[in-house]
Amino acid sequence: MKIYNTLTKRKEEFVPLQEGKVTMYVCGPTVYNLIHIGNARPMIVFDTVRRYLEYKGYDVNYVSNFTDVDDKIIKKALEEGSSAEEVAKRYIAECRRDMEGMNVRQATTHPLATQEIPGMLEMISILIEKGYAYAAADGTVYYRTRKFKDYGKLSGKNIDDLEAGHRDIQVTGDLKEDPLDFVLWKPKKEGEPYWDSPWCKGRPGWHIECSVMARKYLGDEIDIHAGGEDLIFPHHENEIAQSEAANGVQFAKYWMHNAFLKINNEKMSKSLGNFFTVREVGEKYDLQVLRFFMLSAHYRSPLNFSADLMDAAKNGLDRIVTAADNLRHLIGHGADGEMTDAERELFVKSGKYVEKFEEAMDDDFNTADGVAAVFELVKFCNSNASSENTREFLAALLERLGSLCDVLGIITEKKEEILDREIEDLIAERQAARKAKDFARADAIRDELLERGIQLKDTREGVVWQYQGQKNRQ
Ligand code: AMP
Ligand code: ZN
Repeated sequence: MKIYNTLTKRKEEFVPLQEGKVTMYVCGPTVYNLIHIGNARPMIVFDTVRRYLEYKGYDVNYVSNFTDVDDKIIKKALEEGSSAEEVAKRYIAECRRDMEGMNVRQATTHPLATQEIPGMLEMISILIEKGYAYAAADGTVYYRTRKFKDYGKLSGKNIDDLEAGHRDIQVTGDLKEDPLDFVLWKPKKEGEPYWDSPWCKGRPGWHIECSVMARKYLGDEIDIHAGGEDLIFPHHENEIAQSEAANGVQFAKYWMHNAFLKINNEKMSKSLGNFFTVREVGEKYDLQVLRFFMLSAHYRSPLNFSADLMDAAKNGLDRIVTAADNLRHLIGHGADGEMTDAERELFVKSGKYVEKFEEAMDDDFNTADGVAAVFELVKFCNSNASSENTREFLAALLERLGSLCDVLGIITEKKEEILDREIEDLIAERQAARKAKDFARADAIRDELLERGIQLKDTREGVVWQYQGQKNRQ
């Protein structure tokens, strides 16, 4: 399997630090607003990378943070007369809701910057001890950028060019030794959240958060570090400088960056005001369509968002879901008994599309070609499956299609069917609780279902349920 590594600027064979295991850190959003569909791109792309690594048999430890203390969050809190904590809490919940809609799986750990302050104080102290950082007179702690000999190795920037650029914009009264130095810890301002530290009451800089969270949850050396391409400089360059100076080992082996999502061929961003939130798009389309649209391009290619492309994604997705539905329907009518020899031969033939899919994904996660292979499998299923077939054959095809869709995070069962099954499981659990005279649990389940708008009725035929305002289901 090959991964394009931003650090070496070429595709490299993927060899994890520890056999069978992958540690992966993905920079998460700053939570001061609903996420926009540009922010959704790294979420979907790297969730798919994780799913494929798991499909290949790796045990993946996936960490993605929420930046919950930041100028923008504080500004928003001041505007609405609430606290930074309250703003962050709200938008983390909203972000999780969007992630669920896009079928982005929960990370192994979603650390919050505000919960990791002791680790940040510790790393900053180590950097000071080693001479890589210093506290200025006002208590601000800066990283001594020039001291880190490899500075610029990720972004390919030359430190002297950077210095020339910075000199023009140096602010008078700046207490830095060098304009290139960046902040690790800054003093609080009136009304801002703060923590005690040996240098001043204040809060961390953005870059130190990720270095600390990656080390705490994944270790000094990690396999993959990822994010959008705008993070290469300065964020990831600074993370490398901090982590490698503090830990004394290479920080991340592979650096992956997604290209930008654009609109009218311009970068989509909050500051330009030309963005759509995931929530807005979710009002018009199932968020599965957004996911499928994102995966229709290679993650390192810019992608332009348009209604036409979304409609094309919707049609493509429908084709896949319909094929899976059709297989499920046929299974209900299929013949008993083992696969026939002819079916076995056909099934082996369908393996060609799995190979194509894996070939595409092994080539730096080329989901565009991966999706094309899924379409070929769909076509194969549509032309080779009928109610004349054995159930075993049909189920094997469905399983094959389902496993590829699962890598892409595409759900092939209609939401309603999944919901129905969940509800029926809960009802069965409630019945068992009643039988065991665990009435507290039984009542809790009834309440949970009521909260989801589902009413239960005990009838002579057993329990029937209905969405409020709908007819009974059994
Ligand atoms: P932020 O909340 O700005 O820190 O962004 C969170 C993540 O979204 C980062 O990995 C960014 O690189 C990424 N991102 C922001 N805008 C876009 C965009 N238009 N296209 C792709 N990725 C983006
Ligand atoms: Zn980060």
